Amino acid sequence: MTVHTQTAQGSGSLAVNPMFARAGEATSVPKHRLPDAPMDPSTAYQIVHDHLMLDGNARLNLATFVTTWMEPQADLLMAECFDKNMIDKDEYPQTAELETRCVNMLAGLWHAPDSEQALGCSTIGSSEAAMFAGLALKRRWQRRRRSSGADTARPNLVMGINVQVCWDKFCNYFEVEPRFAPMAGERFHLDAEQAVRLCDENTIGVVAILGSTFDGSYEPVREIAAALDDLQARTGLDVPVHVDGASGGMVAPFVDPDLEWDFRVPRVASINTSGHKYGLVYPGVGWVLWRDADALPEELIFRVNYLGGEMATLALNFSRPGSQVIAQYYTFLRLGHEGFRQVQQECRDVAMYTAGRVAELGPFRLLTRGDELPVFAFALNDDVTNFNVFDVSAGLRERGWQVPAYTFPADRQDLAAMRVVVRNGTGREIADLLLDDLDHLLPRLARQTTPARGVEAASFDHASAHRHKS
Ligand SMILES: *Cc1c(COP(=O)(O)O)cnc(C)c1O
Repeated sequence: MTVHTQTAQGSGSLAVNPMFARAGEATSVPKHRLPDAPMDPSTAYQIVHDHLMLDGNARLNLATFVTTWMEPQADLLMAECFDKNMIDKDEYPQTAELETRCVNMLAGLWHAPDSEQALGCSTIGSSEAAMFAGLALKRRWQRRRRSSGADTARPNLVMGINVQVCWDKFCNYFEVEPRFAPMAGERFHLDAEQAVRLCDENTIGVVAILGSTFDGSYEPVREIAAALDDLQARTGLDVPVHVDGASGGMVAPFVDPDLEWDFRVPRVASINTSGHKYGLVYPGVGWVLWRDADALPEELIFRVNYLGGEMATLALNFSRPGSQVIAQYYTFLRLGHEGFRQVQQECRDVAMYTAGRVAELGPFRLLTRGDELPVFAFALNDDVTNFNVFDVSAGLRERGWQVPAYTFPADRQDLAAMRVVVRNGTGREIADLLLDDLDHLLPRLARQTTPARGVEAASFDHASAHRHKS
């Protein structure tokens, strides 16, 4: 549901180009009221097609993490499967089988103790996955507390202020107190010390992010877990870790194979990723996996009758398109480990190259260099006072580029930055075009005497920005 309260675009009716309207068809149709009569499918197609032409060009959108290009074979497979409902495991057992194979592949990739027995499922994205993982943490904590006669009135979840909005939603919807570690100085994400400081007997878990949407940095999962091991040794508190690997869960295994952030770390109970980000599938598919049966309370699993057998299902939604899961299996099969490594390495190379060139332009300083997620954030040097990052973002927008500018959350609200996300298909050619446009824009901005835009002009795409505005 989108909460629209006003008509954003023009009048209430839509003029149909007479060239497209068939004989006898209306040449004007209402926009917000169901039209009275049917129209020719090709007229309807043309109207919707033309309407969408003014959407942004996905390839110039350097703001999104979500896949904007797939191979024609993937398009074909998806089109063949648009009619398959993921929940109908009975009717589409072959689709259900592909979901299981994907879960097993991810379990292996993330070093689950036993990838054949791994527990996990597809979701519509990382947000639904986060709801599940958070619920599992909450139920496990409740169960532990009840068994020792302790109260379960005030659960809390510990995380960095840089978390994606899905964790705010989880806490709001499922009544858990969010405990945010603020940023400080040049530390833009959660660290071990902050995580431990916020934990107490009511902490259901710590969320560590691989990596942060603010700057693309990886949170130090292994160090956070080690500090929690130490906490347990000192106090007896046993706090599990969930890794939000929405992006990094499909990057780190291929280009940072030695980084221990996954089920190799015993305290990591569960991991989510967005199949539609670096899993290279169109929106919406996500995944959530638990290390073993202990990490996923049985009561969250529903048993459905499946061709005379029993099948475990976990989902907030009932009906969901099967084609995204099928497309995920296609990418796994098509690329294999080496193919994914090449794609993610290329993204990283392009990100680091672009970041390096941005740094050379003069007015900018890099907050990150694209060497973790293929994402980098940059700010203006302190001595630049006659324009701001919002001006830079608006100037690039004139050329069609979407490069968001935003302020950081507590305690770095003073810092305004821009972010570039490099994904499959953002090649060096696109990077060079962006750099040229940035280079041409700077002399114009240098002639400004004061910033043209205030912080209010920024498009806030982060929950924490809202959190601190409201
Ligand atoms: C994108 C993102 C999410 C939300 O994922 P969706 O798949 O869009 O629901 C959650 N956490 C992080 C770190 C993200 O980058």
